[in-house]
Amino acid sequence: MKTYSDIAGDGGSDVLGQVLQQRERIAEAMAGIDHVVAIGSGKGGVGKSTLTMQLALALGRAGRRCAILDADLNGPCQARLAGLEQAPLLPGDRGMALPRTPDGLGVVSLGSLVPESEHLAFESVATGDSHVWRATREFNLFQQLLGLVDWGRLDFLLVDLPPGAERTLQYAEVLGPAARFVLVTIPAALARGVVARSAAALGTTPNEVLGYIENMSGYYCETCDGVRPLFDGAAGEAPELGLPCLARVPFDPRLATASDAGEADLPPGPVIRALDEAAEQLLRCVALRPTDEANLIPTDRDQE
Ligand code: ADP
Repeated sequence: MKTYSDIAGDGGSDVLGQVLQQRERIAEAMAGIDHVVAIGSGKGGVGKSTLTMQLALALGRAGRRCAILDADLNGPCQARLAGLEQAPLLPGDRGMALPRTPDGLGVVSLGSLVPESEHLAFESVATGDSHVWRATREFNLFQQLLGLVDWGRLDFLLVDLPPGAERTLQYAEVLGPAARFVLVTIPAALARGVVARSAAALGTTPNEVLGYIENMSGYYCETCDGVRPLFDGAAGEAPELGLPCLARVPFDPRLATASDAGEADLPPGPVIRALDEAAEQLLRCVALRPTDEANLIPTDRDQE
């Protein structure tokens, strides 16, 4: 077996040339996108995908052009959320045409290409060490999607990240320093602790973290038209995130039902109000320079 030191230079692969070509392709495809905002958490099941879709709709209500790229390649949800399970990527005028919902929201998700009954199978030549191939191929596939799709002119590309604090960090590197982050948490110490880890990991990167959205912040009861406690003060033990809170979104059973059915539009209510507030805060944040301290929203640490 050859070791790395037995291989002269790049082994004739021109790997650097290939990387540069891919970077150029991605830069060209993304040239019309004003802001890339990745929605992460670290923790799964906190409502990241649901809120990514809802935030895109809220930004649309605020008159902004948005698209979603589902970076959760192994557990893609955006195709179902958008009702686009049968929307394969097809060649367009420049690259692959962006699949759109009837309302015009662009959504790229592997859920449109791989049925839910199948997993994303990457061929590996090293049984038992296939994780090495998988990780590399996964990020390569993500970069291919970035560079292949004709994104057109967009105010925002929202990237729905997979769970894992380390994964969040890896996507920060792949998306580049201009990508900003929003973290989603719920008011439970278990989730909050993991999200704090992701915030700490992102703190080591040049990427700006705009803030967090607290999801499942109470339970919306349609009958009494009020928000009741859901996780009763359970987040008290968890570390603060040191980030501004962009909005608190209650749990609304109608949102879960609508999301499952791929009917993302909800009737007006506390969820829509919270998401509109999050969109407004996001627009404020991206319009500000990071040094414009006086106008920044206070973090949860400042509010103590
Ligand atoms: P994640 O992307 O973090 O894994 P999901 O977005 O898939 O989480 O959400 C997990 C489940 O919780 C889904 O069934 C979703 O419909 C539901 N859900 C998330 N947020 C809410 C909410 N605010 N109200 C009602 N249901 C929600």
